[in-house]
Amino acid sequence: MATSPNSPTLRSWIDIPPTSDFPIQNLPFGVFETDERGPHLAVAIGGYVLDLYAASQHGYFEDLVELGDAQPKVFRRRSLNAFLRLGRPAWRAVRQRVSEMLRHDAPELRDNEEAVRQCLLRQTEVRLLRPIKPANYTDFYSSIEHATNVGTMFRDPANALLPNWRHLPIGYHGRTSSIVVSGTDIKRPNGQRKAPDEDLPTFGPSRQLDFELEMGFVVGTGTALGTTVPIAEAEDHIFGLCLFNDWSARDLQSWEYVPLGPFLGKNFGSSMAPWVVTLDALEPFRIAGPVQEPAPLPYLAQSGEHNFNINLEVALTPAGGPETTLSRTNFGLMYWSMAQQLTHHASNGCNLEAGDLYASGTISGPTPDSLGSMLELAWRGTRPVPLADGTERKFLLDGDTVTMRGYAEKEGIRIGFGEVTGTVLPSE
Ligand code: MN
Repeated sequence: MATSPNSPTLRSWIDIPPTSDFPIQNLPFGVFETDERGPHLAVAIGGYVLDLYAASQHGYFEDLVELGDAQPKVFRRRSLNAFLRLGRPAWRAVRQRVSEMLRHDAPELRDNEEAVRQCLLRQTEVRLLRPIKPANYTDFYSSIEHATNVGTMFRDPANALLPNWRHLPIGYHGRTSSIVVSGTDIKRPNGQRKAPDEDLPTFGPSRQLDFELEMGFVVGTGTALGTTVPIAEAEDHIFGLCLFNDWSARDLQSWEYVPLGPFLGKNFGSSMAPWVVTLDALEPFRIAGPVQEPAPLPYLAQSGEHNFNINLEVALTPAGGPETTLSRTNFGLMYWSMAQQLTHHASNGCNLEAGDLYASGTISGPTPDSLGSMLELAWRGTRPVPLADGTERKFLLDGDTVTMRGYAEKEGIRIGFGEVTGTVLPSE
């Protein structure tokens, strides 16, 4: 029987430092191009990308019946979407084969100088592209700490959570056209804003630009319109997870959101990391989520371990300045699991599509140093956050770079997510 690609005993013939996000047990998927090549699908390994199209052309996937007649063309695409549509057996077969090609005792690729030159490129020498063309995008609101903090600030501390919150995963439909890959600059949006002490709104640059530390999950297997997903099958539809920054203009948001919800305060830009870590690679990091009280309705009822222990952090770097870590938290804290989000999303018959992106909502922890947005860290501007360069922030300034990172760790194996970063440019 083949060794599991998650086995902690595996090591690669590629030299990978222990601090790398991309050991042989990870093998996340993405898309890259260079001036001469691509776009091609790829897998991250240490400081390299493995070009899946090149590997396919060298015959390494020739016997993978799970790919049908899709190769090599499925690897010569601008997004993972066509690969996702092949289904989990194909995703698993490719990850398993890449693991076999890269393990220390596998000479086939290692000893083929020409193939190594064609298949392995340094990450610093390629442009990583947005890994999926998001088919649809939904943002949830599933951290109880975040929802409680926002409710406390904007409504009523005694009734911070609205009556529906503990009964269903709250979400809204977002926009896919402005979802960009890490490294893309974010222009400060203009919009209508009205401070509480102003009589009328004005139009101009947002004065309360913010980030939201989130995880996104990518749907690999869709559903037909009119069908639902039993909770026990929800995870079968999930391909993998990525870091996600849901940039938010709080002043636009707070003026516009009543009664229909987030709109222009959100859709001017959202950033996703270039690597999607497979749900398969995250199997060792399952944990139970928080106890849900009251118990969810039967269609959302779940037992066992459906949260994932992923350490997260967000850092801010002013123009030319040193980086300050603003917050550290954990994805395992989420009140509603990804499976519950997905099952709820499909519970009315709404169809899921390969390439759908579902974001968790801001991930905040219970302590002041574990909050996932500036809104909460600076408590609506009332307690400015000190930075390493001696300045402070209530919200983001032009030139600020926000960087989010994440990793899961167990038995010395670190499954990292790379980073999602973006710099704020002045408005026009
Ligand atoms: Mn959000």
